[in-house]
Amino acid sequence: MTLYFMDGQFTEREELRVSIDDRGYYFGDGVYEVIKVYGGELYTAEQHIARLFQSALKVKMTIPYTEEQLVEIARELTMRNEISVGHVYIQVTRGAAPRTHQFPAATVAPVVTAYAIQNPRPAASIENGVAVKSVEDIRWLRCDIKSLNLLGNVLAKQEAHEAGCIEALLHRDGVVTEGSSSNLFGIKNGTIYTHPANNLILNGITRQVVLGLCQELAVPVEEKPFTLKESFDMDELFLTSTTSEIMPITSIDGRLIGSGTPGKLTRHLQKVFALQIPSSNVGE
Ligand SMILES: *Cc1c(COP(=O)(O)O)cnc(C)c1O
Repeated sequence: MTLYFMDGQFTEREELRVSIDDRGYYFGDGVYEVIKVYGGELYTAEQHIARLFQSALKVKMTIPYTEEQLVEIARELTMRNEISVGHVYIQVTRGAAPRTHQFPAATVAPVVTAYAIQNPRPAASIENGVAVKSVEDIRWLRCDIKSLNLLGNVLAKQEAHEAGCIEALLHRDGVVTEGSSSNLFGIKNGTIYTHPANNLILNGITRQVVLGLCQELAVPVEEKPFTLKESFDMDELFLTSTTSEIMPITSIDGRLIGSGTPGKLTRHLQKVFALQIPSSNVGE
């Protein structure tokens, strides 16, 4: 039995009904978040929910709950579904109304749905590193919004998967932006580089956690774009996301990065990252 949340209620998955007229379905007109669960506890939930509200604000949507209420809903889903390691997914759409591009009447309520799912950490990829494929970034110019409109991301991920890679390394005008569902970091001569948090990337919570760890460890960081060409010459590369954590990249388009194994600084950051996870319980 899996309990989902929708419109103020916890309901069994099989009993949920969504409207054919939901604007999420017609237009991808909504925003979402993914929150990690470790040892039955939510990780950085407040930051994720704050970003959900920022995304909603940017697309002029109102969320009919407070931030505290949404954190509590995520917590209750985790508890009632007895999730130990996994994640909570939350999405808000602009509601259900006959299809017209412009916003529906203010009386149309946004639709909030959420679920919690058991999902092991990708331990082997985190340990051994992954291959990525470079793909042109054809997404729109508001990548800072975690929107349900993910066609550009979906096409990039599929292209990477068809090439046997776990993630796409997106590049726009020769500059590396991010992954299709992750942020990218390069290390050269002890300095960490990552694209600045502007409209061309989604400013990941994991990205921000890593930047915080670098500051504590006094590792020099430059939030400065680097090119695809430069990425091949990095000593180390890694990606970050809620579900991927800190994942070493060992090759791009079949060309090895560094020695082709996870780098030393990446390993160190992984260790420090693991220490600040709730309950220190990173088990499967
Ligand atoms: C969600 C997402 C990320 C990673 O963000 P986290 O908060 O670390 O999970 C990076 N890029 C894109 C495009 C995303 O959608």
